[in-house]
Amino acid sequence: MASLRCRRDPCGVVCLILTYFSVFYADYVVVQYVLIPAYSGIWCSLHGSAFNVILLLLLACHSKAVFSDPVVPLPDTALDFSDLRSQSSRMSDRGCEGWTVCSRCETYRPPRAHHCRVCQRCIRRMDHHCPINNCVGELNQKYFIQFLFYTVASVYATLLVVSAWVWRIRSERDGGGEADDAPGKHLISAHYIILLVESVLFGVFVLVIFYDQLASIIADETPIEQMRNRLLLMKERGSSLSSSSSQPPPHHATRKPKLALLREVFGRSVLCWLLPLYSGGPSVGGVAYSALPDYDV
Ligand SMILES: [Zn+2]
Ligand SMILES: [Zn+2]
Repeated sequence: MASLRCRRDPCGVVCLILTYFSVFYADYVVVQYVLIPAYSGIWCSLHGSAFNVILLLLLACHSKAVFSDPVVPLPDTALDFSDLRSQSSRMSDRGCEGWTVCSRCETYRPPRAHHCRVCQRCIRRMDHHCPINNCVGELNQKYFIQFLFYTVASVYATLLVVSAWVWRIRSERDGGGEADDAPGKHLISAHYIILLVESVLFGVFVLVIFYDQLASIIADETPIEQMRNRLLLMKERGSSLSSSSSQPPPHHATRKPKLALLREVFGRSVLCWLLPLYSGGPSVGGVAYSALPDYDV
């Protein structure tokens, strides 16, 4: 599945390579040009350990978000799509309220699942198709948000670089530093500037997405659902809408407490919130449904 996605989404592969390159470059500059020259003894070890632990967590969450499979599983046998309306009514009779049929995947899909044109599959509670080369949906949204959270490493890197640069300027002013034309000095400055630009750009970009993700969880409405609801409202106001049985019904946000909505995504324990640990299937706290409804074909 992962190799299939790589072929379909070359832009996602480029973004993956860029992410890994940025992380390893940041680690190299921080250790080689910031911590070792500017910090001594225990502080060098402490900052080095803390920074690398954050990067490890970032990469672990990123890998889980990339390689988790958020798609709705396909049935073993093909479905008969000769009469979608009767299929739909039969499902309602069985109590599969909210389940719809995706004519592209040729399968039933649970409530709040949407078809992704890049993955060419239906995704459970689809949020968006992401440059991490995977869709973000119910089964990997938690890991994706944790990855965004651990890009706090970029703020940490910014603070370390700025403090090291101040230390260098003070050392030069006191006469203990390198001369202006010392070999390597321009190289160090170039590394500092590149890392600062990378950290600020990456940090601001991620902060915006992080805020959007939390806002959509608390609102209990994915961006796709928000757009669909808005479009349906416009159509209802505009002209008489001919309803189609294959279209998912509009999702209405629940009135659950914010903490309960966050727990549905992140789990109940603090460890589950901070670490990329599995915190339960879709039926635990989240939307309650089995992998596939009990249907005949
Ligand atoms: Zn589909
Ligand atoms: Zn997708």
